Amino acid sequence: MELACLDLEGVLIPEIWIAFAEETGIEELKATTRDIPCYDELMQQRLRILDEHGLKLPQIQETISKLEPLEGAVEFVNWLRERFQVVILSDTFYEFSQPLMRQLGFPTLLCHKLEVNEEGRITDYTLRQKDPKRQSVRAFQLLNYRVIAAGDSYNDTTMLTQAESGILFHAPDNVIAEFPQFPAVHTYEDLKKEFIKASNRNLSL
Ligand SMILES: [Mg+2]
Repeated sequence: MELACLDLEGVLIPEIWIAFAEETGIEELKATTRDIPCYDELMQQRLRILDEHGLKLPQIQETISKLEPLEGAVEFVNWLRERFQVVILSDTFYEFSQPLMRQLGFPTLLCHKLEVNEEGRITDYTLRQKDPKRQSVRAFQLLNYRVIAAGDSYNDTTMLTQAESGILFHAPDNVIAEFPQFPAVHTYEDLKKEFIKASNRNLSL
């Protein structure tokens, strides 16, 4: 039995915080884990900036609802779901991802959760667990699944390592150079070919 695990942001949809920063013109919100490696510090900074600008969850959701999946992503997900059980493993939050997941046909998504008060202010967040992508792959393996995983960044590399096969998709050069053990591809057509190669079944395009 084989399972495909996909990262979400940068693989199927745009980076949500960067898109939101562009939409609002708030430069500081463009910081990612590449600028601030500690995720908690980064999230605390983002929540502080939202408060400073009086931005609440409904306004953020409105911006996100205007975003679209990356070109070709919907077709790719449909292709993959005909051949594998697909689970998306993401470090985003359910409250943000909803409009984009709708456009992707609501594949299974494991991610984190925001704490929001009655006025819609984001007060905090809950991470599902530590090293969640790798732990998810481990758990699927305990259920006797072979896992083929694809992601684009540092927060995917433990998942790619834990999986029977890991693939880098749309990854920046520094990540590709640091993790030469993973094939690195940049188009959905090539990603399909990597999934076929990694599978132990006789799949075709
Ligand atoms: Mg990503």
